[in-house]
Amino acid sequence: MKLLFYAAKTYDRKSFDPELKNYPDTKIDYIEHELDSRSAVLAKGYDAVCAFVNADIGPETLEKLKEAGVRAVLMRCAGYNNVDTETAHKLGIYVKRVPAYSPEAVAELAMALALAVNRRLYKAYNKVRENDYSLKNLRGVNMRGKTAGIVGTGKIGAYMCEQCRGFGMKVIAYDVYENESLKDFVTYVSLDELLRTSDLISLHCPLIESTYHMINIDAIKKMKDDVILVNTSRGALISTNDLIEGIRMNKFLGVGLDVYEEETGNVYEDRSDEIMQHSVTSRLLSFPNVMITSHQGFYTKEALEAIAQTTLQNLTDALAGKQTENDV
Ligand code: NAD
Repeated sequence: MKLLFYAAKTYDRKSFDPELKNYPDTKIDYIEHELDSRSAVLAKGYDAVCAFVNADIGPETLEKLKEAGVRAVLMRCAGYNNVDTETAHKLGIYVKRVPAYSPEAVAELAMALALAVNRRLYKAYNKVRENDYSLKNLRGVNMRGKTAGIVGTGKIGAYMCEQCRGFGMKVIAYDVYENESLKDFVTYVSLDELLRTSDLISLHCPLIESTYHMINIDAIKKMKDDVILVNTSRGALISTNDLIEGIRMNKFLGVGLDVYEEETGNVYEDRSDEIMQHSVTSRLLSFPNVMITSHQGFYTKEALEAIAQTTLQNLTDALAGKQTENDV
């Protein structure tokens, strides 16, 4: 079985190569190119391709993969909003993903971002390094006793709820499907009520048509002043321009983003020597209460091992024509 692994990083090889001992018939070729309509032709002669969150797997890419003889697209992530699944199904290409690799990893980063923006840790770190031991602009709030509003209480959101409970917060949530296992300490409310009453809002729902820009200026205006907003799910859940407007209205105590709309092109690249033109990300970074990380929620040892194991099993299953719960 031949797998072409797009947008490969050193850490991918480190987690996938050791797993190959369990899949002796599988050979992986790693390339740095992102999977898109131009690079899809490189997959000629491969049984399957492996891609990540910022690949462009639209109709054109899928047609070219089909022409190249590819039978499966293996997403080494949970989200698949960048895959045109309808076209894939029409072309008979399996699309499999890794629905749960380490939800704790993402939830822990969400909490880390909430704490970091609350206590301005990114500023404190740099201040002390520069011999500035003043406490100017570092004041935060206690988390204990505050209300955490969790949007989406699936695998990651559920852990976020638990963490917030651990901090002594009151936990409320909004989801289209309520998670019965959380109901002993989580109160489900409408999205409107969550926006109006939460001190911390953390987004853990997928990016789909109904959630696109769910945090827009109308939603932001409903929020309490001095709210903390965290997004570790997908950038386009938040309208960046509206977020900037909200920040300028002094709505937020802090904003922690592991994902943001403009991240494609930035994610996992070193662009430190480039002059950014027309970048809303640069504008976001100019605010003292915003901290952005580069889609690193999944990036723990345990998560990477689990991703490698599940992806290689997905390859075996897909090429055996086996449908599993990892199909999308
Ligand atoms: P999940 O499928 O287990 O949970 C998603 C939850 O969102 C479900 O309970 C679902 O009912 C709910 N939901 C769906 N539509 C909704 C809506 N309109 N409003 C409110 N809730 C809604 O998914 P998960 O594993 O918890 O992952 C959540 C998201 O985290 C993924 O979609 C992915 O985009 C993101 N993610 C980010 C990283 C990262 O590295 N930052 C890593 C993994 C996943």
